[in-house]
Amino acid sequence: MREFLKTKGFKMTPQREIIFRAFFEIGDHVTVDELYRRVRKSDNSVGYSTVWRNLKLICRVGLAEEVNLGDGVTRYDRVTREPHGHFYCVQCKQVTEFEMEEIVAKLHPIADKQLFHVDTIKCEISGVCETCQKKTDDDDDTPLVS
Ligand SMILES: [Zn+2]
Ligand SMILES: [Zn+2]
Repeated sequence: MREFLKTKGFKMTPQREIIFRAFFEIGDHVTVDELYRRVRKSDNSVGYSTVWRNLKLICRVGLAEEVNLGDGVTRYDRVTREPHGHFYCVQCKQVTEFEMEEIVAKLHPIADKQLFHVDTIKCEISGVCETCQKKTDDDDDTPLVS
């Protein structure tokens, strides 16, 4: 990681190392708040803006990318993983992933037809997850007043 950063023109500092490690430990759909809380467990002298700036740096060097699910909270995914789409539950705010292989395979011929060169394909879908649907169903079970 240290060498990698150097090739990108950045220095690895001890604080930076803690932040980077915390990010890769948490894994997926990390918010700045989550990362900040994790980092503070290792070193409580690290400020919020330092965490934020370093998260941006992780993106800039191509190790993470922003995920925007339409709720105004930016999450970050490692880019070392397989391309995947996100289901975002608007009720419990949980994010789950799904495979994109088939979708991507179908999209390419469509793009070709329009002579569109595809760089990135993102698939962020919002709705209601299974658990929350059940909760709503339970509410519906309350007998109607007749
Ligand atoms: Zn993801
Ligand atoms: Zn839900």
